[in-house]
Amino acid sequence: MDYNLNLRAIFWRVEKLYGDREIVSRTHEGIHKYTYSDFALRVRKLSSLLKEKGLVGEKVASIAWNTHRHLELYFAVPLMGGILHTVNVRFHPSEMEYVIKDFGDKAVFMDKDIDYKSDLPTYIFDEKYDEEVNSREPISNIPDIDEREGAIACFTSGTTGRPKGVVYSHRSVFIHSLSLLTADALGISSNDVVMPVVPMFHISAWDVPFASLMTGAKLVLPGPRPKAEDLVNLIKEYKVTIAVGAPTVWIDVVNYLEREKKDLSPLKVVVTGGAEPPVGLVKKLKEFGVKTYHAWGMTETEAIATLNKNDERISEQGYPIPGVEISLVDLEGKELPWDGKSVGELVVRGAFVTKRYSNAQTQSEKWFRTGDVVKVNPDGSIKVVDRLKDLIKSGGEWISSIDLENAIMSYEKVLEATVVAVKDERWGERPVAVVVKKPGVEVTAEEIIEYLKSLNRFPKWWLPDKILFVDSLPKTSTGKLDKKVIREKVREMLGNP
Ligand code: ADP
Repeated sequence: MDYNLNLRAIFWRVEKLYGDREIVSRTHEGIHKYTYSDFALRVRKLSSLLKEKGLVGEKVASIAWNTHRHLELYFAVPLMGGILHTVNVRFHPSEMEYVIKDFGDKAVFMDKDIDYKSDLPTYIFDEKYDEEVNSREPISNIPDIDEREGAIACFTSGTTGRPKGVVYSHRSVFIHSLSLLTADALGISSNDVVMPVVPMFHISAWDVPFASLMTGAKLVLPGPRPKAEDLVNLIKEYKVTIAVGAPTVWIDVVNYLEREKKDLSPLKVVVTGGAEPPVGLVKKLKEFGVKTYHAWGMTETEAIATLNKNDERISEQGYPIPGVEISLVDLEGKELPWDGKSVGELVVRGAFVTKRYSNAQTQSEKWFRTGDVVKVNPDGSIKVVDRLKDLIKSGGEWISSIDLENAIMSYEKVLEATVVAVKDERWGERPVAVVVKKPGVEVTAEEIIEYLKSLNRFPKWWLPDKILFVDSLPKTSTGKLDKKVIREKVREMLGNP
């Protein structure tokens, strides 16, 4: 039978099997709760509105936080044959304008705190919007869209040049969600309460909302600018069992818990990725009774592509999940062995790896080059050494910025740290560390260098030439350390032109 792996097939489950399940959403107006049935009815009404406004089969932009209204668009737009283009709420308005024009969106749906004015028809999430949706007749027929059509689109964060648009097809969303549900991956079940903290405006919150709805899990959406306190309150109030977000989110949460003498129960699992979680963080989470799953992925692989659940080797990024293949190559593209020693570029291919960018003519060959430098263990688990562009080349040898960062962060007085290259006449490049100390303690550069030496892990020439202290580290719009800005800041601090 030809059966389209499309969002209609997920929506069928939402409506027919799990009508009584709940979706909790923290909004600007407070907590909103409804059932999957109420949600499905709203999706049908919203589809009707889209039809009336001539938006069937069109590209539609959303600039929104993780809420039920955003989730309704996640279904209504693709169900009606269009593509929902999720725009990063932290983009500068000019960047929003660029990606919306570039992608060719025909309307904009956004939260009310978003600072952006569009000349396109704009719908702002408020009570009037809710009434507008509610007053529509629910659509009765949902078309059976070809699974290879686009469903959701997201632009890369543009840390390396102009952002590039990546489109996820119905098929890739379906297969990726299914893959996330497998027991050796996230293993989400209908008994779970899932909270995606990772933003719905970036890589569809790693497809966790789709996977959760596919299996009838209760979904908790943390809404606009959630702080550690908000997240802990939601976990406790709605009995969240699996929460998903970047390491920085959990660093803040653990800090808050220690300050306020609170715990994390009944949370069981934190899925983290986007950057390597510091070992100290994983240890702390364990003390709070929470297991860490470490995921690796990128915009171009629809987020999670490899996963590691092994406590003992938690710094590894793990094994490819079903639907994706990996290979290790050198700079000429020659295959390297999986011996846990050879260092090369990770290349991937699979059911949810992007074929091409929306704004580029060229298409990747058989394998997609990730730009990540990794080792692969004989059992197929990967270990990211660095990003190609962040490696520090000192005297012709490579220094991994990630290794040094993690070592510095394992020092008890350090809250956050990053290591970047600065130009050096003699060595080409040298590492400089930028450190945020924990509140209420004193720490010196010498102390940190002594600590690094005491680990007995790094050759002398790996040790940072300088350690600079700052109050906070700049983050990208997706919560990662913004090395581009940090490099500029370091250059300024060191008085280099
Ligand atoms: P951007 O490239 O704009 O930062 P992405 O979200 O696509 O946005 O980032 C993907 C990159 O993030 C990967 O190529 C990799 O370098 C890094 N990354 C993702 N997950 C991990 C992880 N678990 N450990 C280390 N690095 C990671």
